[in-house]
Amino acid sequence: MVKVLQGKPVAEKLNKQTEQVVQDLKSIQCTPALAIVRIGDDDSSIAYESAAIKVMNQVGIEVSSLTFSTDTAHDVIFSAIDELNEDQNIHGILVMQPLPEGISRNEIAERIDPEKDIDGLTPSNLGKLVENNLTGLWPSTPKAVMELLEFYNIELKGADVCVIGSSPIVGKPLTILLLNAEATVSNCHVHTKDLKMYTRKADIVISATGSVHLITPEHIKEEAIVIDVGYGERDGEICGDVQYDKVEQKAAAITPVPGGVGPITTAVLAEQVVKAAWTFVTERKNN
Ligand code: NAD
Repeated sequence: MVKVLQGKPVAEKLNKQTEQVVQDLKSIQCTPALAIVRIGDDDSSIAYESAAIKVMNQVGIEVSSLTFSTDTAHDVIFSAIDELNEDQNIHGILVMQPLPEGISRNEIAERIDPEKDIDGLTPSNLGKLVENNLTGLWPSTPKAVMELLEFYNIELKGADVCVIGSSPIVGKPLTILLLNAEATVSNCHVHTKDLKMYTRKADIVISATGSVHLITPEHIKEEAIVIDVGYGERDGEICGDVQYDKVEQKAAAITPVPGGVGPITTAVLAEQVVKAAWTFVTERKNN
């Protein structure tokens, strides 16, 4: 019988821990605060922003939102980020993605103060990720996958893991986190010649492509663990990268979509806001 790896209990555990840290911070006169920056009105960004605000409210983190239209001059957006970097009452900055055409992820990533970069975009935090330096802030979705694997006691040391997707916000950092956990990792992407050759060997298959129903039972070995990070739509229904109904009959464990990695991602964002706030408080004390 397949084990369904629900995200909700993982998110609840993280949110409970975060709520406690928020109380500790408030007892020393620091109210952790997040600023969300959104450029444009992409539907998925708006949905993600609402989910993030809900979790922040739940755990006691203050949230403010700055919204710009897609025709806003880039200098205006960069100045707003500079102001948030300087603002002593803001501990985390989240710039929603996807970004509209004409403004690059790298331009934004290089602008955010790494100590407020709660979604691990900046070169500094990505460097710390590669070094496995735990003072860094990690990209939230890859960290959410790691939290899920840890919660369900899935052994990574020496495991063969296949990650499908190599974007800078999900697939690539996830591959590095798994290497840091001493798994043997193969990373596949749209140009991989024979995807099944890699997935069929893997103890754990993690798909993060947005290509709906890409992963079929033929892609996995018996009793594999299947983690679906993808989020797409088919015939008006939310679905992931994995053909859930068929793959669940062969896998040992599988995440649902929705309800798998998604809720953990927003919990990780909240966790990283309080981590940033602790760093801020500690540095203020030392100066
Ligand atoms: P992206 O478009 O930036 O990258 C997609 C990656 O998948 C690329 O590396 C591409 O080469 C690969 N890919 C695409 N089609 C493929 C195919 N047919 N075969 C093999 N590889 C293929 O996307 P992203 O931002 O990394 O997001 C990936 C998915 O994860 C999307 O569905 C997105 O909605 C979802 N997502 C979920 C969460 C969450 O919290 N659950 C958060 C962020 C993104």
